[in-house]
Amino acid sequence: MALIRVRDVSQPPSRWQSDAYRVLATKVEHVVGGPTAKALGALGVETLGDLLRHLPRRYLSSTDTSDLSQLRVGDEVAVLARVTHSEIKGPPNARRLEATLSDGRATLPLTFFGGRREQLVKHWQGELRIGALVIATGKVGEFKNHPQMTHPDFAVIDDSGRIIGGAIRNRTMGRVTQSGGLIGIYPASAKITTWEIAESARLAVDHVRTLPDPWPSWVAEEAGYPALADAFVAVHEPTTRDEARLGQDRLRFDEAFAVQLTMAHRRASALAGVAVPRPEVPGQLLDTFDSRLPFPLTDGQQQVSAEIFDDLARPHPMQRLLQGDVGSGKTIVALRAMLRTVDAGGQAVLLAPTEVLAAQHYRTITGLLGDLAEGGTLAAPEHATEVVLLTGSMSAAEKKRVLLSMASGTAGIVIGTHAVLGEKVQFAELGLVVVDEQHRFGVEQRAALNAKAEHRPHLLVMTATPIPQSVAITLFGDLTVSTLRELPAGRAEITTVAIDVNAQPGWVDRAWERITEEVAAGRQAYVVCPRIHEKDNSAEGLGGGATVLDTFAELTAGPLRDLRVGLLHGQLPTDEKDATMRAFAAGELDVLVATTVIEVGVDVPNATMMVIRDADRFGISQLHQLRGRIGRGGHAGLCLLMTAAETRQLGRHGWEETPVWQRLSAVQATRDGFELAEADLAQRREGDILGTTQAGRRSSLRLLSVVEHADLVVLARDLADRALAEDPGLTTPGFADAVAAIEELMQEAH
Ligand code: ADP
Ligand code: MG
Repeated sequence: MALIRVRDVSQPPSRWQSDAYRVLATKVEHVVGGPTAKALGALGVETLGDLLRHLPRRYLSSTDTSDLSQLRVGDEVAVLARVTHSEIKGPPNARRLEATLSDGRATLPLTFFGGRREQLVKHWQGELRIGALVIATGKVGEFKNHPQMTHPDFAVIDDSGRIIGGAIRNRTMGRVTQSGGLIGIYPASAKITTWEIAESARLAVDHVRTLPDPWPSWVAEEAGYPALADAFVAVHEPTTRDEARLGQDRLRFDEAFAVQLTMAHRRASALAGVAVPRPEVPGQLLDTFDSRLPFPLTDGQQQVSAEIFDDLARPHPMQRLLQGDVGSGKTIVALRAMLRTVDAGGQAVLLAPTEVLAAQHYRTITGLLGDLAEGGTLAAPEHATEVVLLTGSMSAAEKKRVLLSMASGTAGIVIGTHAVLGEKVQFAELGLVVVDEQHRFGVEQRAALNAKAEHRPHLLVMTATPIPQSVAITLFGDLTVSTLRELPAGRAEITTVAIDVNAQPGWVDRAWERITEEVAAGRQAYVVCPRIHEKDNSAEGLGGGATVLDTFAELTAGPLRDLRVGLLHGQLPTDEKDATMRAFAAGELDVLVATTVIEVGVDVPNATMMVIRDADRFGISQLHQLRGRIGRGGHAGLCLLMTAAETRQLGRHGWEETPVWQRLSAVQATRDGFELAEADLAQRREGDILGTTQAGRRSSLRLLSVVEHADLVVLARDLADRALAEDPGLTTPGFADAVAAIEELMQEAH
């Protein structure tokens, strides 16, 4: 008789294959009470794994008394100090306890209001006895110009660090059992204190003391980290700081390892994928195009093209990232790859992040190709192909025509925005996908397009944002990197000046005069503003700062009255944007007042000057990208970064530059994109780098900073490569789970 199994309905069915992933996916409400689970949820903690990865921000021991003179109003703190004074005050209906903490030199007053509850106030006084060692957590307030705390959550500890009393929000603590060694101070919220989180973490740790590792033991051993269960104990119940640090590293490593395993897996499956080879076919489009090029290719362009052509000739899909600073000439490299694909019987698609950029690529490419882009017409040369533009805002009739020539295969080259990825899009023979300015793109969109072809197309991703290795192997770990280092010869100097308009008000008028002079010399200029109008909340609107609409009105009525000034921003109808961009490119406009729609890729070599208003609203990379719009021809350029923000502030060590001014100074100091990228990363938050949303941060990449923990990322990559070599089919349940979890996260994030 068959054995009948009854499914355990108390646990939700889990899709995870490994015990570790399954157990860690347990909802926190199975571990702590409902109200606590809810409060934890607000901190992004939903599962047992989230809770265990919600790490103390610091650890205190009984010997770490705080330097109270360093406290600043508004800081969220955890201070450890002794009670030197404690006194009940106020009339019977408004009793309060006033206590004072001291570190031996500076003091911090604490106030607790008890109303009529004499007993409660007495109880507090009983806890906060003179001489008691206390950890108080909360926000530093102000009373009579002096830092103080009102109703901090506090714990009383003994000299060995054991918690022996305290109060959490008017309620006696008593329950907290944290004992000995170090006391973890957790990121808390108004709904839940560090002490309650500590208690929850303790319960969580009890669930996993015997949890098996998701990876084979050699992984942690090679990396020199403790087993997963030991790491959880180490971070939540450490006896030494080294132990805690090693535990944290193990948890971070796991995140990096999961990402790298996913990348290694993607790389392997791309290699195993089948693509149509696109080898050289002499005497066709590419050769004709090359013979007509008005300038010689740089050595870098030739080198990178050779790498791409090698890839294209293989029966597996190319997966390549082309990294090259602003103005390094990536478009030609991409176009040559597209022409080779067409020569070999395929179609190529070029995806741009914005309509402005797609339209410009279309103009540039049809311009460079001349009659070679007139395929289908009678006058066209023999090998000519058709080049089409597809964007989301085209009329239905136009779109239909374009879709038809894509589906029939007459369009050899398709240029578009990600609207191209819409469901109805079909290619007759898609051979190559080029993604321009990938940092604006969801990483996953590549996968979406890949799925459209019977065979996988070759893929070339281009970015002008140079990125350090640890970021590259995380974001683009499935791609092979080519780098264009040099700029084409004959590029002129660009002078960049950061201007504090409060300190140098005359510079604003001077800037408009300079534009007039530049135009008189036959050149063109950009004026860039951080937002469209006062209520602008769009992606272009950076919140605050000058608006294009006001600036346009002000300049055309005043200082630039005699010039031909155009206006460009994302909310204009596409036709109008396109017409304005075209007029500027053709020299029919002298000045373009614009938002960041011109940030990437816009290429008008005659433009030599740029004024960026409220430049403090922009990040370093953005400023570098914007500045890259000028100095593209042979004429020297001038870029003015204007700011009305504070440039200096009073810091702990006297007057210092504000982060805003540091940013502008960095951009002023160098045009080297690689150098600026480092400075930029140092200032940015992780989520901005990975493009992952809050939701993404919540689960799988909670602890890892690919910038801060670069070494760990590289180590994880090496071990992930080995792991996949040993288990290419992901038969290890933990490996399969890791890859599934990261793939899901990346889908969600984009
Ligand atoms: P980016 O890498 O920023 O996309 P582009 O491809 O737009 O740069 O190229 C910038 C400018 O340099 C364009 O005007 C392009 O025509 C020009 N250019 C590209 N390659 C060369 C070259 N080998 N010699 C001279 N000019 C070039
Ligand atoms: Mg470009």
